[in-house]
Amino acid sequence: MHAMKKVLFIDRDGTIIAEPLSDYQVDSLDKLEFVPKAITALYNIARQTDYELVMVTNQDGLGTDSFPEETFWPAHNKMIKTLAGEGIHFSAVHIDKSFEHEQLPTRKPGTGMLTTYLHGNYDLANSYVIGDRLTDVKLARNMGAKAILIAAHDSSLASLDETLVLITQDWEEIYRFLSLPVRKARVRRTTKETDILIELNLCQCFVHRKQKTIAVDAPFISQCFSICFAKSKGCIFYRMVFIYMQVAFNLYMQVCSRMLCKLVQHVVEKA
Ligand SMILES: [Mg+2]
Repeated sequence: MHAMKKVLFIDRDGTIIAEPLSDYQVDSLDKLEFVPKAITALYNIARQTDYELVMVTNQDGLGTDSFPEETFWPAHNKMIKTLAGEGIHFSAVHIDKSFEHEQLPTRKPGTGMLTTYLHGNYDLANSYVIGDRLTDVKLARNMGAKAILIAAHDSSLASLDETLVLITQDWEEIYRFLSLPVRKARVRRTTKETDILIELNLCQCFVHRKQKTIAVDAPFISQCFSICFAKSKGCIFYRMVFIYMQVAFNLYMQVCSRMLCKLVQHVVEKA
């Protein structure tokens, strides 16, 4: 029996190549520019993981007068060729050419172009959509996959749901996330006054406190150490402990995630 394939459904504009702010169309070679670290990260992902790479992109009105095909393909082909030269091969490239107002099922976040994966021998629960828009996150949800969002961190995004597992602007972090074994911890504490559930998975965790969700990521946890540090003034022993813990954390979370969970729980209870 063959193992089920895991897939990375990767957006194109704003994810692999920069999206021109003027008109959102990469319709000339001049406008072709790779997102920093994307090539290196994809190279490492292709070499070190067993994900199948699939490109999924909306190209509004491709083939119409507003975006003639002959202006699209030279830059697109150059991008594909550059990536192939680094050993990065996409098993398929799915391009939806419709406009948003047409509301076609093939347009992201619709899954119309991806039915092969929905009904095939694919492990979608362990597959990811990587993209820079909420439509990419919604696509992941519609596929039963997880989402990695390339965006500035915004705490309102944490409430999306469990689909969104990582928010970052750094492709290197995406590579690390996909190549490391999943380290998850879950701590729940229910008392009369409070109900705190903390889930941590190395890169990011969400703290659910009553109905409120707070996104907790590396900078937040690092900040928690600083708060502990500030509160422990006068006691050199504790100060030393917190400094060492913060340094250890910043040297990138080789620390046991359960311990971190306990610490976050402690800080949240005190907050
Ligand atoms: Mg995009």
